[in-house]
Amino acid sequence: MKVGVLALQGDFAEHLVMLRRLGVDSREVRLADDLDELAALIIPGGESTTIGKLATTYGLIDPLRNFGKKNPIWGTCAGAIFLARDAHGNQPLLELMDLKVSRNAFGPQVESFEIDLIIPALEHPETPYHAVFIRAPLIDEIGKDVEALARIPDSEDHGGKIVAAQEGRFLATSFHPELTKDIRFHRYFLDFVRDQI
Ligand code: GLN
Repeated sequence: MKVGVLALQGDFAEHLVMLRRLGVDSREVRLADDLDELAALIIPGGESTTIGKLATTYGLIDPLRNFGKKNPIWGTCAGAIFLARDAHGNQPLLELMDLKVSRNAFGPQVESFEIDLIIPALEHPETPYHAVFIRAPLIDEIGKDVEALARIPDSEDHGGKIVAAQEGRFLATSFHPELTKDIRFHRYFLDFVRDQI
């Protein structure tokens, strides 16, 4: 099983390190041909407008949409925005997941923060998941086939808002599991990739 990481912009290297730690073969994806024979794809955090522009320039939008017809895709932060149906603006999106997202919903870079989340879908759900948010989006609306996997705790600003969601083979997280040492989210994604093949 080989998993690709979209390597146009952003923190793709950190995802590759996580995959290596989990003993999974990986490949950087920059051109359509790089998608050949991949079981799944991760779209990293970064800047979604830049990722969208570069994907358009390199003719990747349709190949990525086709890849998503059968294969699991996980987007973290900017990657989650790029996967969404709607981001309240005019930028290239894959529109693969039935999500409406608000970019930079917590304010500018200086408002970045880390918070412990309880995520029942992960292994050892009783152990809080330390989530890193950097100019992160919020998931404002989810379609009827989308499941909310994590929400901001009620005690915080934006309490109750969705920050991780799954729609079948698609996964979106507002935060950056690739920037922590906790491998549970990557393992969760890889488990359902394995179930599909
Ligand atoms: N604010 C960025 C965007 O709108 C996302 C930031 C991130 O990926 N850390 O694309």
